[in-house]
Amino acid sequence: MNIDRTYAKQMDDKDMLKHFRQEFYLPNDAIYLDGNSLGLLSKRAEQSVEHMVNTWKTYAIDGWGSGEDPWFYLSEKLGALSAPLIGAHAAEVIATGSTTTNLHQLVATFFKPEKKRNKILADELNFPSDIYALQSQLQLKGLDPDTHLVQVPSADQHTLQTGDIIEQMTDDIALIVLPSVLYRSGQILDMKTLTAAAHERGILIGFDLCHSIGAIPHHLSNWDVDFAFWCTYKHLNGGPGSVGGLYVNEKHFNKRPGLSGWFGSDKEKQFDMAHTFTPAAHAGAFQIGTPHILSAAPLLGALEMFSEAGIEAIREKSLHLTDYLMNLIDQELRDDGFTIANPKADHERGAHIFLEHPEAARICKALKQDGVIPDYREPNGIRLAPVALYNTFDDVWTTVTILKRIMREQRYLQFENKRGVIA
Ligand SMILES: *Cc1c(COP(=O)(O)O)cnc(C)c1O
Repeated sequence: MNIDRTYAKQMDDKDMLKHFRQEFYLPNDAIYLDGNSLGLLSKRAEQSVEHMVNTWKTYAIDGWGSGEDPWFYLSEKLGALSAPLIGAHAAEVIATGSTTTNLHQLVATFFKPEKKRNKILADELNFPSDIYALQSQLQLKGLDPDTHLVQVPSADQHTLQTGDIIEQMTDDIALIVLPSVLYRSGQILDMKTLTAAAHERGILIGFDLCHSIGAIPHHLSNWDVDFAFWCTYKHLNGGPGSVGGLYVNEKHFNKRPGLSGWFGSDKEKQFDMAHTFTPAAHAGAFQIGTPHILSAAPLLGALEMFSEAGIEAIREKSLHLTDYLMNLIDQELRDDGFTIANPKADHERGAHIFLEHPEAARICKALKQDGVIPDYREPNGIRLAPVALYNTFDDVWTTVTILKRIMREQRYLQFENKRGVIA
């Protein structure tokens, strides 16, 4: 296959999603490949923030019930807009909290340790915050995380094997929490098979969708997943600290939230101000306090773009982009000491490429200096995420060309091989 720049131009010409790129603010015209850490601002998200600030200006207290998007119902509306991205019913999804607080809420709700079943199963590759949350939830129940948090090991420190995870689903496990896509290697876990295996063994299972929502399709309802949670500032482009989301399977709508608050109330009852909590009859019950309206606002514009583009089309382009990137790296950087450490197969590959190199920290600094924004992960990882809504095939070609020059000219040697405070 001829994969030179002409190929990139051809792919960009026939790209059905190409018109979305002009809706985003591209920072300093750099090639932005860090959308899996913080997605870019779109004009639509900017407008929806402006719109929401104006509702405050115009309506003051009446903004809760007035205007085009009354604040009182905004979380439910955003939940319904998110539902198609994860294959859920609208009532099963609510925009609320953050990844970590939603995980706390869901574990507080679903982890009911019994005499024999009193452990939580996770994995040794997950994002630290998830592990901290699980450890503290165990401590709250008087259990020792050293013995009651079981973490599935990874043989290669990059990926997890379905069989290894299932092997750990023993009869002392009450609850399983796993990522849908691993944040470093980008591996997609087989959520359908894992859910079926957990349920056969009487175990509840939930997934952290931070690195998959907005990037790959999901069928959570069909797979019968019990719960899920995510942030919205990565692939969903909601902005720094934008309001997260959670999913609770409708069969669990009768469960009392582990952490109750008045915004989890049945909306008809909330302002009765009674001291008896009447939870909403849907995922909204798992909200706690007053929604962060100004941090939810960008999602109105951002999610509209996903509805228009369609998650299947986004996934198709994303797979082509990452495939092209891997091919170019194989062809152009074969002798430069890089290892492609993400799974290569389509069904296992998320929306970013994970490269390893002993000089990774300073190669990332050199890339930034030369106009490519990557993402560094300790101790030697470079994540490159060409995002379907705003990156082009030409971005990918240019990135590899720049990276090749950095390696040939050893341009990275001018930097220290050490990460900054934020990497
Ligand atoms: C990004 C990310 C988080 C971040 O959690 P916040 O509560 O949003 O800060 C947690 N877990 C995973 C797997 C992530 O990728």
